[in-house]
Amino acid sequence: MPAAKYIILFGPPASGKGTQAARLRELLNLPHVASGDLFRENLQGETKLGLEAKAYMDRGELVPDDITIAMVIDRLSRPDCADGALLDGFPRTIAQAVALDQALSAQGHRISQVLYVAVPDNVLVERVSGRRLCRTCGEAYHILFNQPKVPGVCDHDGGELYQRDDDQPETVRKRLQVYWEQTSPLIDYYRGQGVLVDIDGNQSIDAVTMDLEKAIAGT
Ligand code: ADP
Ligand code: ADP
Repeated sequence: MPAAKYIILFGPPASGKGTQAARLRELLNLPHVASGDLFRENLQGETKLGLEAKAYMDRGELVPDDITIAMVIDRLSRPDCADGALLDGFPRTIAQAVALDQALSAQGHRISQVLYVAVPDNVLVERVSGRRLCRTCGEAYHILFNQPKVPGVCDHDGGELYQRDDDQPETVRKRLQVYWEQTSPLIDYYRGQGVLVDIDGNQSIDAVTMDLEKAIAGT
């Protein structure tokens, strides 16, 4: 049996992780585990977890580690993740990365690759401010850089496109500050483990996909 593949798509808010994860789905054939999507699903379903997370998300802060770690490790323990997963938005703190390493090693697994999609802050602000998501499937569009065929409507399922509450300029500034303070130390953490691959995220969506595919094939 081939070894399970746990790959992390790592990068600042709006660096294109979700967009690229959707494009890598066929190549990887692994479930896409995105912590932000899991929180938003919980919020839509008005679960206790969703309501607890909302206050932090609205302020642009990280949801506390204990809640986040339990949610993602639970997701990874489901049968569809037995051969691996494409993680997106998790881990975001050293404590989360350590918990993930421990959970995987308890199953005899490890992180295969961390694909670090780097994008300058000023470009991230442009990307966030034009981001629109499908209410039904979560697909990300951009009002200038990745337009749907019909404005306001998802190409795949006709769902309504909406702007996230936390994609407002003040919250975005806070999220970038949180990224640099709490999440960016993971770059050295994973570089130290020899699993980090640098990807230039400041290119067209197609060019980033090509670089990611090359990096994945290189393992
Ligand atoms: P983006 O796509 O802009 O990077 P996400 O959808 O990944 O944003 O996350 C949205 C919000 O959900 C974050 O600002 C944070 O409040 C919360 N969140 C998501 N993932 C994590 C995590 N791993 N740890 C703590 N909070 C998280
Ligand atoms: P993340 O999941 O990292 O938060 P998204 O995939 O949601 O990021 O992308 C953020 C926004 O930027 C979306 O509106 C998306 O359409 C757009 N986008 C993604 N990649 C690129 C790119 N390479 N060039 C221009 N816009 C992009």
